[in-house]
Amino acid sequence: MITKEKVHSILKGYDKKKIKIATICSHTSLQLFHGARQEGMKTIGICLEKYKKTYDAFPFGKPDEYIIVDNYKDIPADELAEKNAIVIPHGSFVEYTGKNLEELAVPMFGNRLSLMWEGDRNKLFKWMRDSGLQIPELFTPETIDRPCIVKLPGAKGGKGYTIVSSPAEFKKKVKEEKFIIQEYIPGVRVYPHYFYSPLSKGGYEVRNGSLELMSIDRRLESNIDESYRATLAGVTVEPSFTVIGNEPVILRESLVREIMEMGANVVESSYRLFQGMPGPFCIEMICTENMKFYVFEISARIVAGTNLYPLGSPYTCYSYKEPMSTGRRIAREIKRAAKLNKLEKVIY
Ligand code: ATP
Repeated sequence: MITKEKVHSILKGYDKKKIKIATICSHTSLQLFHGARQEGMKTIGICLEKYKKTYDAFPFGKPDEYIIVDNYKDIPADELAEKNAIVIPHGSFVEYTGKNLEELAVPMFGNRLSLMWEGDRNKLFKWMRDSGLQIPELFTPETIDRPCIVKLPGAKGGKGYTIVSSPAEFKKKVKEEKFIIQEYIPGVRVYPHYFYSPLSKGGYEVRNGSLELMSIDRRLESNIDESYRATLAGVTVEPSFTVIGNEPVILRESLVREIMEMGANVVESSYRLFQGMPGPFCIEMICTENMKFYVFEISARIVAGTNLYPLGSPYTCYSYKEPMSTGRRIAREIKRAAKLNKLEKVIY
């Protein structure tokens, strides 16, 4: 893996007044480019030729310039570095670049190590436990004694996940070799989006910085969401969990206290385990009828649910006078860090 020192040495050569925001045209890139534009920053979209047209359809969301590639595994690091680019990792970025992300010789917003921690299930569980989060019980194929969800490796947006209730059902339904088996938690899914700034003071203080709640969503998954319609229509459905979109959530205000505490604990733990996590992250959880939160994942980057709020959210309006998306917040943090000569604090 490329060292932090190497990344920071590349950053040293940058013209701090001409920093550009770069990412792959997918996932949350419209929001990231839009937010950067609002902050007066220039943007670069790494794009396949065939997708450029889609981005050109959104004049305020498209990048200022494109770098056209044949394959996302061939991201031209030298060209990006020459252009003073800081790369913003999003879900598709992490998925498409795969192992290459570890070596990508371009300054990246946030702590690259946090992506390694979220991507490795053993590390992720260590992180969630160290944060004191309540997590659903884990099973082996032999010990399944209740409804469980079987998950496959990688951020697949729930694709291929299945529900089993016994060792026999597991054997029948699951053919893959790598999986985890987790107790199925009934309840309401809640995905709060946070932003941690090591540069800010005041507000909800954590370590020497400040934690912000940007917004909350829940995902729309096919076909589990709305499966009642099929059931009412007399169609039997096997539940599946493929993410197809997101919808907004606002929480009972008393629950916001707990949500903030959980976010703070995740940040504290990130410092104990891998030198912190500046920038956006999300805790994926389910709230039961007893109002207990069970966490099943942490995403150490911007998540697609933030796309609901390109003009701010019912939480950011209490912190900012102007519309503040997570994309814009990232651009603002980079601008501010450059001005304060503290880019090293938010880049790896
Ligand atoms: P991504 O990495 O894109 O966030 P993923 O492929 O890692 O997704 P998860 O987020 O772990 O998958 O889970 C996908 C969906 O499965 C969740 O959004 C939720 O609807 C459901 N789910 C996950 N774990 C549980 C659980 N323990 N109980 C009930 N439902 C669950």
